Amino acid sequence: MTVIDIEEFQGGRRPNAICWRRKARLSPEQEAKLDAALASPDITARTITDVLNSWGVMIGENVVAKHRRGVCSCSTVASQAVAA
Ligand SMILES: [Zn+2]
Repeated sequence: MTVIDIEEFQGGRRPNAICWRRKARLSPEQEAKLDAALASPDITARTITDVLNSWGVMIGENVVAKHRRGVCSCSTVASQAVAA
């Protein structure tokens, strides 16, 4: 699979957009598992997406990959991390 870097198109991101990672309602255990999976290079975005879908978080592989690569809406909203 070819990963296309679209970072140069990201300047127009909506600054107040909240990504799926913050919207997902997960148990603390699921949160921990998800963070570990996102941090592991051995686990594909496809696999993470399948697990999230099984948890009722209906998102696509592309948004998982974007969040992971730091080109997601949430990566520019540092204040949300403080507020959360
Ligand atoms: Zn995100």
